[in-house]
Amino acid sequence: MQQSASFYFYGSLNDFLPPEKRNRQLHYSFQDKPALKDAMEALGVPHPEVAAILLNGQPAQLMDPLNTGDQLKVYPPGHHLQLTKEYRLRPEYVGPAKFIADVHLGKLVRSMRMLGFNCCYENNYSDPEIAAIAEKEARIVLTRDRGLLKHKSIVWGYWLRSQQPEEQLLEVVRHFTLEQELNPLSRCIACNGRIEPVPKAAVIDQLPPKTRQFFEEFFQCQSCRRVYWKGSHYERMQEFIRRVEGEFLQARKY
Ligand SMILES: [Zn+2]
Repeated sequence: MQQSASFYFYGSLNDFLPPEKRNRQLHYSFQDKPALKDAMEALGVPHPEVAAILLNGQPAQLMDPLNTGDQLKVYPPGHHLQLTKEYRLRPEYVGPAKFIADVHLGKLVRSMRMLGFNCCYENNYSDPEIAAIAEKEARIVLTRDRGLLKHKSIVWGYWLRSQQPEEQLLEVVRHFTLEQELNPLSRCIACNGRIEPVPKAAVIDQLPPKTRQFFEEFFQCQSCRRVYWKGSHYERMQEFIRRVEGEFLQARKY
């Protein structure tokens, strides 16, 4: 028998809906008893973007069944709804944020590592591999692919609205409130390993002649052994960081 329920998606969850369906009550027709997760995802909204669900006025969980006549209100993080314990859809994220990015986000990954964020990435990971690593290592999935975020095993994730790497970085910092956690020159841009100071004598053989001549302070990746110093790339990085911080100062004014 054909059944129907109504959904209202709030705030940034409307980004997943076509313009004519935004900020209004949607009627959803279904058969059997789908889980709320599946019904929301059929409408376009991946579950990791949802912070809370009200089912007929009561807090509900992703795997609760949908019944005919149900009225759903679905909220993104940061909405004014007071999220007490019974609203929680997933365990609270503990510790510094760790990310895994999909194969199309190489530029974003480099800039995230530049700011010191732990971001796992390989350009040949399949979607199931990304979902498996995210689950095993408790990583937040970053992607431009809504389908990937619908994987059941993905607990934390975010769909990047912008296609432009610098704007994407700002989105991530804003969404996960990482403004206070920028830690440049702490993570290897190439492999995500930790960077530590190293004596010049230990790396002197790996340095180009001019670097050997003009620089005294060096850092080395503890995983791939790549050597870093505060050369022209460091200056560019600082400019980039100032730009990022400037964006936040500006954003706070409004
Ligand atoms: Zn490295």
